[in-house]
Order: sequence, then C-alpha cells, then structure tokens
Amino acid sequence: MFQKILVANRGEIALRIICACKELGIPTVAVYSQADQDSLHVRFADEAICIGPPKSSESYLNIPGVISAAEISNADAIHPGYGFLAESAYFAEVCEACGLTFIGPSPEVIQLMGDKDAARRAMKEAGLPVLPGTGKLQGPASAIIPQAEEIGYPVILKAVAGGGGKGMRIVDSSPELAAALEVAQSESESAFGSSEVYLEKYLPAARHIEFQILADHHGTVMHLGERECTIQRRHQKLLEEAPSSYLTREMREAIGNRVVEAVRAVNYTNAGTVELLFDDLHNYYFMEMNTRIQVEHPVTEMITGLDLVKEQIRIAAGEKLAYRQEEIEFRGHALECRINAECPDTFLPSPGKITAFHPPTGIGVRVDTAAYTDDVVTPYYDSLIAKVITHGKDRLEAVRRMQRALEMTIVEGVKTTIPLHQRVLQDHDFLTGRISTRFLERWTTSGAKK
Ligand code: ADP
Repeated sequence: MFQKILVANRGEIALRIICACKELGIPTVAVYSQADQDSLHVRFADEAICIGPPKSSESYLNIPGVISAAEISNADAIHPGYGFLAESAYFAEVCEACGLTFIGPSPEVIQLMGDKDAARRAMKEAGLPVLPGTGKLQGPASAIIPQAEEIGYPVILKAVAGGGGKGMRIVDSSPELAAALEVAQSESESAFGSSEVYLEKYLPAARHIEFQILADHHGTVMHLGERECTIQRRHQKLLEEAPSSYLTREMREAIGNRVVEAVRAVNYTNAGTVELLFDDLHNYYFMEMNTRIQVEHPVTEMITGLDLVKEQIRIAAGEKLAYRQEEIEFRGHALECRINAECPDTFLPSPGKITAFHPPTGIGVRVDTAAYTDDVVTPYYDSLIAKVITHGKDRLEAVRRMQRALEMTIVEGVKTTIPLHQRVLQDHDFLTGRISTRFLERWTTSGAKK
C-alpha cells in the first residue's frame, strides 16, 4: 500500500479523498493555491504545500508545482480527484516518469477517451451502440451541411476534447449550421485549446444514464449499476439519482454486462464511468467515458455500501477487487443535489462570503462539502459549495428526505441552486419519472443553449 498520497485538488473532493486516506491509515499531503490557504483540505491533510497564485493555471494545473510538492513531501502516489489534472494523459505520464503512482487509469486509456471521436470509434468496435455521427469535421460549413443532412436534423456539434457541456451547439436546419459551427469551434478553442468538433444525431427527449465501472489490474471488471443524471442545466448535471427508474433489473444486467465487456476491450483499469444516452424507446447509445471519479459518485456509494475512493486507491496499489459482480447488491434509492453558489434563474456564479452555513443532518442524509461559515467562494474555481445526498428505502423516501434536508440547509451570503432543486423535487413529472435532459427548459430559457 502507499506510504503517502498527495491530493491534487481542492474543495469537497479533496476532503473526500482525505477521508478515504484517513480510513485506510495513509498520510496525506494537500496542495493549495494562495486563495485557498484557509481551506479545510489544507487543515485536514497531514501536510500542506502552497503551489502558486489563485489562478488554477498557475496552481492546481501547474504540473511542475504539483510534482515538486510530491517529491518534497515524499508522497508515492497522487490522487487527482475530478476536474483540474484528472483527465490529463500528460500528467499521468509525468507521474509515471517521476516514479509516482497516478491513481487512475493508464495514460493511454485517458488519451483515448479524452478524444471523443476516437472514444466513439473504440466503443463501437467494442460492441456498444453509438449515435449516427461524423468523425472530426473538416472544411467550411458548405462541406459539412451534406453530412448533417445525411444524419438528419436535429444534430449536435460537439467538441472533440469536450467536457462540462462546453463547445456544444444544437442545429435544427442547414441555414443555422455555419453560425453554430463558428460558435462551437471558438468555444471549444477557448475552453480546451482545440477547435476540433464533430457532429452527432441529437436526441430531443434523451435521458442521461451512466454506468459506474471498477476494473483492477488482474483482469476483473465489474459495474456498480447506473446513475440517472438527466436533470441538467446547460448540458451540466444538477441532480442525480441511483438507481434509474427507467431501467428494469433485466435491462441493468444486460446493459451493465455489455458495458463491462466494452471497457475490458480497451484495457481500462481503476474507476470509470460510461455515459449513455437513452431515447424514449429504451434504445441506448454510448456518449463518452469519464476516466476519473465523478462528482455524483456518492449516490452509487449509498446504494452499494462501497467506498469508491478507497477502491480507486486499492486498485492503484495493485490489489485485487475483493468481490464479484454477483455480490454487488443495490439497496434502496439515493439522490444527490448539487448546491452551487449561483443564481438559480440565470445560473450565473454568485461568489462571495458565506456568512452562515449549516448543512442538513439526520437519518439518511450525507453532505460532502468543504464549506463553513465565513468561508469565501472565490471566482477562480467551480462554484460547487456542497453535495447533499439522501438515501431511502425507495425513491419516494429519498425524495421526501431530500425535501426536508434542503429545507433544513442554511447557506447565507451567496445565492444558491437550492430553490431550483426544491422546485424540481415537487414537480409532478419529476416525481412520476417523466424527465428528459431538457426538463429545466420549462422554467428557464437558459436551460436551453443553441
Ligand atoms: P461533456 O463531456 O461536455 O459533459 P457529454 O458528451 O457528456 O459532454 O454531454 C453532456 C450532455 O449534453 C448530455 O448529458 C446530454 O444532455 C447532452 N447531449 C450530448 N450529446 C447529445 C445528443 N447526441 N443528443 C441529445 N443530447 C446530447
């Protein structure tokens, strides 16, 4: 097992990783920017090293800074969390070259899945259905229009290097294509440093359902069921649940097995997530694979009783998965609401000082957060303040528990997404499971982005 783990992240996920390390008896090293010196990950890690100014490009994304911190502190492994360096194949390679274990899959698989076009091709080859689409687009709009027409409108332009819903544009007809292409390319260039985009058939009433995978270095690959992540704003997840009420037990087993075989075919190791889109006839299609721990991993933990971060660490240390697929049991239902510091109507960030903070408590409630009273939400990073997770014997109990948990959450000083979640949790269509990724557009036009 590792002697010391450096946590290359901040906020709730850094704390989450520190929790897992403490339970495994592994000392931790936090890295932090000058904006985060009073953060809880700095306080609860065994050691902490400042790696630069507030801007993430100069701190949390500063590879030499992170590697030096690992060397100075004698850490032998790095957990990247999600975001920042988590899906950088280059960073994973540098870790390897410096004799540090990167807690995640191999650089080759990260590279493959980071190129959405290559990932689509690999997963199609490995037996998963994909939506009709193109490879990387080349040439002017006039050359692309025939390809879009062949797929059939609506289509969606997506960034090859995509993430966080950026660089995507829905196109309903040929005259719209040129302008949409320009926007998608420039958004992709500024977010990912690459303007490469591709086209895919757009499913107007889709559900986003993803499978959690664990794979060790001894050939065992398994799935831990699915998460329903259909409630989104601007193609970004807001509320997640497990299991999905859209799948029967038989579907879960059948799709889970196909996903496991596809992941095995690309030699995947560690934790990962295969994201699928479902249409209204239960057809499903591979969308992308995330090669890291996901924000919404707690809902899977609540229904399986497993600790995914500990599993990641054990797998990276070369241990075998300690159970078989047949031993994974799903108990009850879990929901997660992402509490962001943002305006619930416009989704614009709302940075500032949290003047009062009281997370909800009580039976069946889990809160993953690094926030506290007088903590400052800075404009430099993601606006996630807390994840409120509830678990109940069934969906209704989990929903009722979430309703009362949010009512008993105090966050003052910044605007939050809590009112939006409360509205969703009372909506008849949500309660009866009639949802699609455009669910929120009924209340706000900013849910849609063309
Ligand atoms: P990112 O990596 O930026 O998160 P994804 O490929 O995971 O991008 O897609 C994010 C969301 O965008 C999906 O959950 C879904 O709501 C929407 N989306 C992406 N592709 C399609 C599609 N072909 N049809 C309908 N919705 C889509």
